[in-house]
Amino acid sequence: MNLKTLISEESLQKRIKELGNQITEEYKNKELIIICILTGAVYFATELTKYIDNTNLKIEFMKVSSYGNSTESTGEVKIKKDLDSSIAGKNVIIVEDIIDTGLTMHTLKRILLDRKPESLKICTMLDKKERRKVEINADYVGFDIPNKFVLGYGLDYEEYYRNLPYIAYCED
Ligand code: 5GP
Repeated sequence: MNLKTLISEESLQKRIKELGNQITEEYKNKELIIICILTGAVYFATELTKYIDNTNLKIEFMKVSSYGNSTESTGEVKIKKDLDSSIAGKNVIIVEDIIDTGLTMHTLKRILLDRKPESLKICTMLDKKERRKVEINADYVGFDIPNKFVLGYGLDYEEYYRNLPYIAYCED
């Protein structure tokens, strides 16, 4: 594959630190649950939480089905791994790798709102706004990106390339 850098490791680090600082300010003296959406958001969520200065923070993991091995989202969200504890009455931030059509996040948000958290926000590393099929906006966005299939920093192509330390796209 002919990989080109879209977002360098330095730019990612700088932006993730800024988001961490912003979340620190907004959740001062509050308990916070970060929900990392497996597997793609793992790199982003672990780096982000290192920059959130809050000793009342817990990290939870959730795995939902999205693309599989094709490249179109169906909007059908299947929970493959659920949270280990209740989020009722808690301040929650969903941390996702990328919002594309928005179908996955739209459904996930509804599922989690049904569990009655005190607040629910969305933080996404990447946002492909021009691909949206449903109205969904993230509260925290790392980078707005063009309509390209991207890889790296947690994002895969058939489960490979997640370990690239930067975001790449494939040039054919
Ligand atoms: P959506 O439901 O918003 O269309 O899709 C969300 C999911 O699709 C993401 O969590 C991610 O797993 C996958 N996805 C969307 N765009 C890309 C992309 O450019 N690269 C990769 N690797 N996955 C993507």
